[in-house]
Amino acid sequence: MGQRRNDETEQWRTRSRLPLILDALLGSEEDPPVRRLVEAFGGEPASVKERLVGQPAYQSRRLQFASGAEVILHDDAVVATVLHAAPTEFAAHGFDLPEWIPGLNSGATLEDLKKAIDAPRYRTGMAFDMDGAYAVPNFKNNRGWNDPGNLLSITLTVEAPGRSCRPEDDDCPVCSDLLVRNTDSDGDQNGAAEGAGAGATGSATGGAAGMDVERTITALSSAVSADLLKESLHWVPLADLQPLHASGLMERAESQLTCTQCRRIICLTLFRDSAPTFVYAVLDEARRRPLEKIPPVEQWGDAPRLAKDREAMHYVDHHPGAWFLVEQQGDLFLQSRYWRNSMVDSDVLLRLDSDERDAYRSGGKDFLSELSERIDKSRPHTEESPYFQRDLSRGTDGAALAKSFAAAIVNHTWIAEQRRRS
Ligand SMILES: [Zn+2]
Repeated sequence: MGQRRNDETEQWRTRSRLPLILDALLGSEEDPPVRRLVEAFGGEPASVKERLVGQPAYQSRRLQFASGAEVILHDDAVVATVLHAAPTEFAAHGFDLPEWIPGLNSGATLEDLKKAIDAPRYRTGMAFDMDGAYAVPNFKNNRGWNDPGNLLSITLTVEAPGRSCRPEDDDCPVCSDLLVRNTDSDGDQNGAAEGAGAGATGSATGGAAGMDVERTITALSSAVSADLLKESLHWVPLADLQPLHASGLMERAESQLTCTQCRRIICLTLFRDSAPTFVYAVLDEARRRPLEKIPPVEQWGDAPRLAKDREAMHYVDHHPGAWFLVEQQGDLFLQSRYWRNSMVDSDVLLRLDSDERDAYRSGGKDFLSELSERIDKSRPHTEESPYFQRDLSRGTDGAALAKSFAAAIVNHTWIAEQRRRS
């Protein structure tokens, strides 16, 4: 998207060997520019890694060279090239950066990179825009770019940083093996076994779909229990995904889970009328996915789920931008938004006392809006406020309460309403 005004002066075009890499992007392994690049990296790769990613699946293929370079292909198109400045499992020494980008060495800082590459910066991140491809430096622990010795690698990629997942993460040790596939493509064994065991859900998800939904959900749940993935509270809870799908009440039931290591978001979606999907997304993509209203549990939950629901918090009412009211076994809880200053807002969570409940019964929403204003004016994050001590989010149960609360209001948040509108 960058203007081409600096064509002649951008050093990477004339002084570096980066155009050799850019010419190979999106090419297939047999294309001459890709073959030239492979030759320049040393010819025969030291190792080749392959795996299927997601469902519908694409093939990720990584050619790793002893020179410290790596070429990543998706379905036989080059999507990224990684120059490893530091030694890796397939290269005893880092890539010879000065040979390819004069003026750089393996200890380069971001400032050195700016000078040597001399291309426009992409948005606010650390990436450089090179005619629609991107050069993205990767520093140790994602920081330390001002100090020499922290540069790990430079990736040249067609994927815009932050807009889609990094091809390097195809092999994330935490989240890349959680999708369980049926062992053979016909699904003879799995399809039959599941059809018999799990009824309609099993037969719909075994066989042709290629993903064993039951076992995939089990794998994801264990990863959540082990704190490796974080389940999003704004989507269908993983435990409810299959019952909701089996009920046929939702056109698409989706759970979203974030990997604590690579930050990719796994979107597992069970469709009423088509095969299930398992997609890795970045935050921006994940948030744009359509979100349906989750139907009331009485319409789809079994007896244990209904029993659990009787103890859970339930949405009662809200005033956009100001407060939410939920009910739990006769108690009423108010989450009220307040401003710490003109820039920063926060929430308090209160259990209404008996006077407030009476006032709500007679005054309705107006009373809650007045109460919410009083809370805001009292500066509830300070001890002088009468609401400071009552704020349940400060207590030991704070995190658990916040989670139950989020589940109760999932259909009513601003973001849910926005998404349904679009
Ligand atoms: Zn991951």
